[in-house]
Amino acid sequence: MTRPIEALIHTDALQNNLARARAAASGARVWAVVKANAYGHGIAAVYDALKAADGFALLDVAEAEQVRALGWRGPILLLEGCFDARDLDACSRLDVWHVVHRREQIEWLAAHKTHVPHHVFLKLNSGMNRLGFAPAAYRAAWLRLDALPQVDRIGLVTHLADADAAVDAGSDGASEDPHALPPSVARQVERFEAATAELPGERSLANSAATLRFAASHPAVRGDWVRPGIMLYGSSPDHPAHGSAAWGLEPAMSLRSQLIACQDVAAGEAVGYGSTFRSERPMRIGVVACGYADGYPRVAPGGNGAATPVLVDGVRTRLVGRVSMDMLAVDLGPVPGAHVGSEVTLWGRATSGAVLPIDEVAAAAGTLGYELMCARAPRVPTRVV
Ligand code: PLP
Repeated sequence: MTRPIEALIHTDALQNNLARARAAASGARVWAVVKANAYGHGIAAVYDALKAADGFALLDVAEAEQVRALGWRGPILLLEGCFDARDLDACSRLDVWHVVHRREQIEWLAAHKTHVPHHVFLKLNSGMNRLGFAPAAYRAAWLRLDALPQVDRIGLVTHLADADAAVDAGSDGASEDPHALPPSVARQVERFEAATAELPGERSLANSAATLRFAASHPAVRGDWVRPGIMLYGSSPDHPAHGSAAWGLEPAMSLRSQLIACQDVAAGEAVGYGSTFRSERPMRIGVVACGYADGYPRVAPGGNGAATPVLVDGVRTRLVGRVSMDMLAVDLGPVPGAHVGSEVTLWGRATSGAVLPIDEVAAAAGTLGYELMCARAPRVPTRVV
């Protein structure tokens, strides 16, 4: 591949971020969430760094096969459970634990012919209204599972909708305890506690935001297993309230390219499709080998007054004009020495060590780090460093 673009996957950053998760988990076990091909990083690319986790939580049988093929012998959890009764054979064969969130999944288990009993996690819909049994139906579902010879262990799981939510400032205007539960989180935790009261089994509630903010101070949120995803990849779960550095997280992916052309633009000239940027004075711009077909967001603003950050040779500058399919343009004003071949860091860590958090690029584009990571196009090769 000669086009100068690649996604570097930083082993040291993944290890650091997993260590942060483990510290925040305060003794709970840690599922490394590697669904969506490890949030776009590549399961194979992150595996060695993340195999110090206690388990891998992922989406489907294909991802579970991949993790087993990499040599993992420990727990694997299917976060959305089986999509079809046929997935149960693979769960038995691969020794994969799976979430049970609706009635049909219980009936598939009841009909499953297997000598290897299943380890399941029964999901409560505690208020997110995405997956899970309603509180009133939860205990009956547990009793039905408990009666099945095909099931030998039942864990208890729910998912929090607002673990990243701000806690309101107190009436005196001073901000409250940052570890206080936002009301909607407290409500979900209360419902989980009530629905699971006196049921045996390991518990799991916390995603990255809940792990970082509440696991140490709230045993009911910590449970027995936490399920961090985004923090492992170095993005802050509650940006902009806290940036990734404030949580001690480091970018696991750096999207790097180079300048493939430079242009001197006269005052009043426009740059790119739609002429959305017009120079106010003579300026130099650089053209970068990265576009929306590489997964960079086309909606990232580059008009006059708008500022999507970019690093050129580790120096912060901004996008100018619209993002094209294979290229984008940047202002070289802050980097007078830049030339064709200069390094461009779209997000992550520059060779110089300067960091551009993916959350800042995502915020400029009106989205989240999650979406940008997952959108990295297959045509951008990854290199594990
Ligand atoms: N648990 C479940 C059920 C999820 O769906 C997700 C991701 O969306 C996670 C854990 C990890 O969440 P996060 O990436 O915010 O840590």
